[in-house]
Amino acid sequence: MKKRKLILSTGNQHKVEEIKNILEGLSIEVVSKKDVGLGELEVIEDGDTLEENSLKKAKALAEKLEHMVLADDSGLFVDILNGEPGVYSSRYAGEEGNDIKNNDKLLHELKDIPLIKRGAKFKTVIALITENKEVIVVYGECIGKIGFELKGKNGFGYDPLFIPDGYSKTFAELGEDVKNKISHRAKALENLKKELKNILEVD
Ligand code: IMP
Repeated sequence: MKKRKLILSTGNQHKVEEIKNILEGLSIEVVSKKDVGLGELEVIEDGDTLEENSLKKAKALAEKLEHMVLADDSGLFVDILNGEPGVYSSRYAGEEGNDIKNNDKLLHELKDIPLIKRGAKFKTVIALITENKEVIVVYGECIGKIGFELKGKNGFGYDPLFIPDGYSKTFAELGEDVKNKISHRAKALENLKKELKNILEVD
């Protein structure tokens, strides 16, 4: 039987591989939007929530394709900052994707805040749209706290500052193997896998 295709809205090769790995074993061929000639399709992430942004990205793809499509959006939510940087995580310090400035700003905002009050969580929302345009949204989160200085060389974004609960090291120190088991994205992808299994069984 021909495998059904799942088109990913991300252009990030790391994410593509992570999603492929987690969904391995399902009868689905996972490909990026670039692979179907839509690499140039850019969507402005101007929603107020992760849900809005992931849905906006997924819908833009679904309008152009007959296949299943998927888009994700993630962010870091710091308790004492009322959930900031949240949906604005990648441009917290003003410049899109400047991890150094974003981490500096976060450390500055949390200056003099004791460890016990440095709670935070990463959240991921994944929007899946099926071939008959049914929308399914799944979530994942990873709870932890924000350290006092940058530690570790792995990963990206706020990884050098985020210490997941149950560990004393940052995501950037723990590395990909550990992170991919406990991260917000990994949990959302596991939830996605359950949904996809149901869809494949029913259809
Ligand atoms: P995205 O939606 O996955 O592109 O994530 C948006 C922003 O949230 C990134 O640019 C990072 O600043 C932050 N972020 C999301 N996931 C992670 C993570 O796993 N580690 C560190 N930072 C992350």
